[in-house]
Parts: sequence; structure tokens; C-alpha cells
Amino acid sequence: MSRYTGPSCKKCRKLDCKLFLKGTKCYTNCVMDKLAAATKRGGKVRKAKVSEYGIRLQEKQKAKWQSGMSEIPFHNLFGAAAKAEGQTGENFLRKLETRLDNVVRRLGFAVSLKAARQLVLHGYVTVNGKAVNVPSYQLRLGDKVALDKSLAENVMVKQGLTEAEKRNQRPSFLEYDSEKMTGKLLRWPDRAEMSYPVNEQLIVEYYSK
Ligand code: SF4
Repeated sequence: MSRYTGPSCKKCRKLDCKLFLKGTKCYTNCVMDKLAAATKRGGKVRKAKVSEYGIRLQEKQKAKWQSGMSEIPFHNLFGAAAKAEGQTGENFLRKLETRLDNVVRRLGFAVSLKAARQLVLHGYVTVNGKAVNVPSYQLRLGDKVALDKSLAENVMVKQGLTEAEKRNQRPSFLEYDSEKMTGKLLRWPDRAEMSYPVNEQLIVEYYSK
């Protein structure tokens, strides 16, 4: 299945949920915020009735679109989570959270997941000193992620770092070293620390159908 290349904001509107796909714009000039403000002022928004299946499908789509993955790798990752020990839903979100592209974003090296993926794909990120250009790379405990020092003055990277500071975005399961521009996965994230605003149980039910 091909990757969606249309406007990112359309996905948020379709799911009636902020997916934070466009970095800074999501905080400063978001169409969803404008719609919410208009609704508060008395505007009417027509919402179609969603079936039980549709609710589960939407929850799966939220996580899939937010992660930027296409259907088959997303489904395969769910399969791996189902085989692991523990709760499938939480395992799955943990795997999404500790993908290399997401960790690069959460460290503040990029303003969005899309920008983080570009950094990884273009070879600016190393894991334990070795170049890794695979955005889906699964980090293990203790892995050290580093951004190429040549990007220290890059405008986009600086913007990401500023935003991360401003919004207190860096979670405590990652250790961040601003001098070396590195981050380390100290422990597995707790559910509350994960950045996916989804009901993972509904995703489990969707794939169990
Ligand atoms: Fe667009 Fe970001 Fe707002 Fe979603 S959250 S509608 S991607 S600006």
C-alpha cells in the first residue's frame, strides 16, 4: 500500500484529533484549534455517526498516521508486540515510542516526526557510534543516539531544540546531553510518557477482529 502524500492537516480533520504532524505550526496556527474556537463561539460541526468497527478503525488510523508508517509495517509491528511478553497494547505503543525517528524527535533534534525521519534517512544520526539510516530502527535499553555535530547550527535543528526546551518535551526515560548532542534510552517509557494519544485497547480489538 502506498504512503499518503496529501495534506497532513486533512488527517487530523478526518479523525477529529490533533496528530501533531507539522511541528511548530501545530502549536501556533492549527486548523483544529481554529475549528474548536469556532465551535465554542456557537458554530455547528456536523459529525457522522461512527459504528463500533469505525471507532476501532479510527483509533488504529490515529496511531498509524501519527507514526507515519504504512499499513504493512504497522501491522507487522503490532504482530511483534502481540508475541512479546506483557500487554499487547502497551508493548505496541512502546515499540512505536522507541523507534529511532521518534526518539530523535523527542530529544528535540527535529520539530516533527517527518523532519526526524529526514535526519535519519540522510545519515545524520548514529546509534552507539554507528550510522543508522533506518527510521524504524528499534532502540534497546542503553542505546546512545547522537546527531552529527555539523548540524549544531542548522536552523531547523535549532528550532527543534528551542521548541523542546520551551514545551518541556524531553521525557525522563531519555537522558539528554546538550553539549554532545546525544541522548540515551535509560529505561522503557511508562504509558503516561508515551506520545501517542490513543486508546491502545481499541487497536488491539481492531486487529483481533
Ligand atoms: Fe495540522 Fe498539526 Fe493542527 Fe494536525 S495538529 S491540523 S497537522 S497543524
